[in-house]
Amino acid sequence: MKYITNSEKETRNLIKKILNISPSQNAAVYVLEGDLGAGKTTFVKGLEDVFNIQIKSPTFNIIKRYQIDYKGFKNLYHIDFYRVNSVEGLDFEKLLKDPQNLIFIEWGSNVKKYIPSFAKWIYFKYLDKNTREIIYEAEENN
Ligand code: ADP
Ligand code: MG
Repeated sequence: MKYITNSEKETRNLIKKILNISPSQNAAVYVLEGDLGAGKTTFVKGLEDVFNIQIKSPTFNIIKRYQIDYKGFKNLYHIDFYRVNSVEGLDFEKLLKDPQNLIFIEWGSNVKKYIPSFAKWIYFKYLDKNTREIIYEAEENN
């Protein structure tokens, strides 16, 4: 599915479309791809309204965890592999296996060999100052 958003707010709202999910065998994993400024973090920040939390960019910490209680999901992980090409010290495989985890990964292509096949990819593209193209590889269900 392809979307065009014309504001930060529209991109924040878009994430709500993929939230009609429930825990399965593994974590729910979304890989967000696109250049700096394409809107990946903005997209994740849309969850602030949903979970009533404040999301801070994980760029310098690589990983941030937020406690949530949503349809069986207990943990929200926001991970950013910008200029990082290793998952060392993150216990990444374990995170990916836990069905209670909802995981959003920026710059996942930097650690591509660690990204599981069940991850869903979302592509962000800068079109102009306020306009972004966002493509979901997976169908959303609401
Ligand atoms: P990334 O995480 O991909 O590097 P950010 O979400 O941090 O990108 O930054 C996107 C920037 O672009 C923000 O400053 C945001 O305000 C701005 N912006 C302008 N229009 C949009 C839009 N339609 N969608 C998302 N961000 C937008
Ligand atoms: Mg970002």
